[in-house]
Amino acid sequence: MARYIEPVCRLCRREGEKLFLKGARCLTPKCALERRGTLPGQHGPSMRDRRSKASDYSLQLREKQKMRRIYGVLESQFRRYFREALKRRGVTGAELLILLERRLDNVVYRLGFAPSRAAARQLITHAHLNVNDHPINIPSYLVKPGDKISVREASRKLKYFKELAADKEDVQTPNWLTVDRATLTGFVNALPKREDIDVRLNEQLVVEYYSR
Ligand code: SF4
Repeated sequence: MARYIEPVCRLCRREGEKLFLKGARCLTPKCALERRGTLPGQHGPSMRDRRSKASDYSLQLREKQKMRRIYGVLESQFRRYFREALKRRGVTGAELLILLERRLDNVVYRLGFAPSRAAARQLITHAHLNVNDHPINIPSYLVKPGDKISVREASRKLKYFKELAADKEDVQTPNWLTVDRATLTGFVNALPKREDIDVRLNEQLVVEYYSR
């Protein structure tokens, strides 16, 4: 499985905004974007300079890259999601986001089992998760209404999951998911709707990028 292995804070600096790729660190002053808001590279132009010169194409490209990076999907797979979204009956941009949101790594992150989508991907590939009581180690698995996502019995003994189960802090899950933190089990109640997806993205620009 191919994946991005460079420092992820570069991606936020490239887009000029926080993509929240590193979990709790993103909310602290240690965030690279708070410390240095320029493009990657020692003398990159400021984001304001770059945005003022942006063409339509550049805006579309940047929005596509941002969406891809937030969900941690490589280009070829992202194109496949776009083709799949085109076949669906709804608004293409919204359908694209809904497909990405249904990925198991995103769901594990949304349920609060991992601090970031990247960490969720690792939990899944290391076989700590079950879907409907069967082990699934594919981060791109698409969940559907009625699915149950749980931490495997053997993995519950690990310190990480013991602490997670004992954590009393409220987890804000979107409407289409519910979680029982004590038993480390989550449920998919429905398919997500666009308004359930709290990412600041203009999906129409992504559609325009692929429709050129
Ligand atoms: Fe982005 Fe998080 Fe790194 Fe800040 S800490 S630059 S939000 S990945």
